[in-house]
Amino acid sequence: MADTEVLIVGAGPVGLTLAAALGLKGVRCTLIEQKEAPEFLPKMERCNARTMEIYRRMGLAERIRAAGLDGRIPMDVYIVLAMNEPPLLHLPYPSVAEARAEIDHCNDGSLPLEPYQLISQYTLEPLLKSVAETLPSVTVRYGCAFLSLEQDGEGVTATVRNRDGGTASLRVAYLVGCDGGASPVRKELGIKLRGEGNLLQLRQALFHSADLFDKIPIGPGPGRGRHYHVADGQATFLIMQDSTEHWTLHAVVERDEDMAAQFERTVGVPVRYEMLYVGSWKQNLLLADRYGQGRVFLAGDSAHLVIPTGGLGMNTGVGDAVDLAWKLAGTLQGWGGPNLLASYEVERRQVGDRNVGASRYASLGRRKWRAQVRPNIRDATPDGQATRDNLVRVAGVEQRKTNEMIGAELGYRYVGSPIVWEEPGGPEHLFREYVPTTWPGARLPHVWLEGHVAVQDRIGPGYTLLRLGGTTADTSALEEAMRSTRAPFAVLDLADQAARAVYGYDLILLRPDMHVVWRGNEAPASPNQLAAVATGH
Ligand SMILES: Cc1cc2nc3c(=O)[nH]c(=O)nc-3n(C[C@H](O)[C@H](O)[C@H](O)COP(=O)(O)OP(=O)(O)OC[C@H]3O[C@@H](n4cnc5c(N)ncnc54)[C@H](O)[C@@H]3O)c2cc1C
Repeated sequence: MADTEVLIVGAGPVGLTLAAALGLKGVRCTLIEQKEAPEFLPKMERCNARTMEIYRRMGLAERIRAAGLDGRIPMDVYIVLAMNEPPLLHLPYPSVAEARAEIDHCNDGSLPLEPYQLISQYTLEPLLKSVAETLPSVTVRYGCAFLSLEQDGEGVTATVRNRDGGTASLRVAYLVGCDGGASPVRKELGIKLRGEGNLLQLRQALFHSADLFDKIPIGPGPGRGRHYHVADGQATFLIMQDSTEHWTLHAVVERDEDMAAQFERTVGVPVRYEMLYVGSWKQNLLLADRYGQGRVFLAGDSAHLVIPTGGLGMNTGVGDAVDLAWKLAGTLQGWGGPNLLASYEVERRQVGDRNVGASRYASLGRRKWRAQVRPNIRDATPDGQATRDNLVRVAGVEQRKTNEMIGAELGYRYVGSPIVWEEPGGPEHLFREYVPTTWPGARLPHVWLEGHVAVQDRIGPGYTLLRLGGTTADTSALEEAMRSTRAPFAVLDLADQAARAVYGYDLILLRPDMHVVWRGNEAPASPNQLAAVATGH
């Protein structure tokens, strides 16, 4: 481990993604995890579209889909009294296969290249672990706990406890705390979380049932879907995991053992099942005051804690990991200036902040329709019917806030970043809508080229100058300036008119993460300054 450049603390999905992303760039890193092995515990189960685009760029999307839920299975959301009764509300959502067909036929930049994918954290973590372990520059050590750190101008010294109980010291250039909500690394730095903590405590249980999926009645059935919210006073909901045989139930109940009865009441028909796990979790909406200090950074739940409503927990963390990975690599490879790593907090903390807001917006929507539940909701009386009608009316608006977050997923744009050539103003950040844009700081929208090739697949791992629509602009000075930074750089000529039409400009300079640094129709007036900004000088 003596030659490790980056120490990653915590092998949740964020630490594992960071290890893989650094490993793919050849950075020597060590990932330590206090657990002996990945655990079969339920947590996240959905990689959103942006995360799947990121995994595609890392060459992992197809492996993740193969390990996750079959793409043909419906993703519908139901609000029910119980699953053996007709639903109060049915919100259909496209399966992965349907979403992919829609993406295949759309070329206005409004859709992601990859649809979302259902994959449970207990499946994703071992998969990412096996990826990280095969990368030559990555060392993965389970059964190794971070204890403390000290840093100086040249590096960080971390004290860890090894599997045998002994302690050891590690000297590295950088350390990243991907160590979850309780983050010992964050505490070592004295960084506070701010916001709303412990909003609600729920119990969660994981069930195995080989027959439930085939029997889901929902009235006349088959009512196959992904989420079943029970209109009760206990915030009960059932979620299909990444096999049709595993389900998690969340509810506010007194005791662990109450979860089995709650499951039976929710399902409403006799099924064979086994309760594999029960635990409790708390809803939080919290953001760290800072995303690190000096040579130590925070990523994932150590920096932001959201309510899973809207699925912006792990997905935001994956965005942190890949952002930090290329900036660490650029700095360690010597071409990145001081603004490169400094931009990590500027860019990712604003996304964390917005996503805490998006999660609040979605969960308040959920709370609003749940507040319409009255004791008479099951009554076969005009008053009972009025309660149900009102709940459906409110839920028809409010529940959608959870499941329709395309703006938060794709539309984030880095504002005020020292490594983006700012254009003042810019489109509003909308949680629910995604409007394709190449405004500096934004993710490059997905466009199909002739032959059904995605622009994203043509873009290499470094900086890219896109020359669009057959432009004849002389960009040699910018190319020379970029090459002189020694950062990886390529020029990509795309004569295709579809890309030019969506992107709206002849020239676009992209960063390694496919976010826009600069755009224009003529070569930039100060190419050396632009190259310096882009690379953090
Ligand atoms: C019920 C539920 C459902 C969810 N659903 C979704 C969803 O659908 N989509 C989504 O995006 N998010 C979801 N989330 C949130 C998601 O699970 C988290 O955002 C995600 O796990 C964060 O990943 P992480 O790697 O940052 O942290 P964690 O997964 O918490 O991993 C941190 C790791 O650090 C290790 N660690 C801690 N301390 C030390 C130490 N001292 N030394 C070494 N290792 C240490 C821990 O053992 C752990 O393995 C859900 C969460 C819950 C509770």
